[in-house]
Amino acid sequence: MVTATLRCGTVLSYEAPTFRPAPGDLVPCRRHGYCAVQQTSGSRGGGTFSRRGRPRAQSELREWLRGRTETTVHALRRHGFTLRMVAAAERDGLVVLDIPAGRVAVRSPTDD
Ligand SMILES: [Zn+2]
Repeated sequence: MVTATLRCGTVLSYEAPTFRPAPGDLVPCRRHGYCAVQQTSGSRGGGTFSRRGRPRAQSELREWLRGRTETTVHALRRHGFTLRMVAAAERDGLVVLDIPAGRVAVRSPTDD
């Protein structure tokens, strides 16, 4: 048995893993006709979602960084933020990453 959570919050379950849709797929929804799949769970892989609870949101990272001037990649990972998220935060201009040193400098909004 596998489940698919839709963007609207509806959870569909499937008897056979082969019927499991992929995130982003449009599937029939009881309430809305068709809705996009947000995430799936179930046998195959077990995957990234189950390891440490739900993934953190970018807004949580923003919140966590607030008031700090510097942190480390290690500290961020310990709090459940992935390197990919930190890299995205750098693209957004929130932080300056020094990967070899493992340092993350937090940019204050006034830096510009
Ligand atoms: Zn729906």
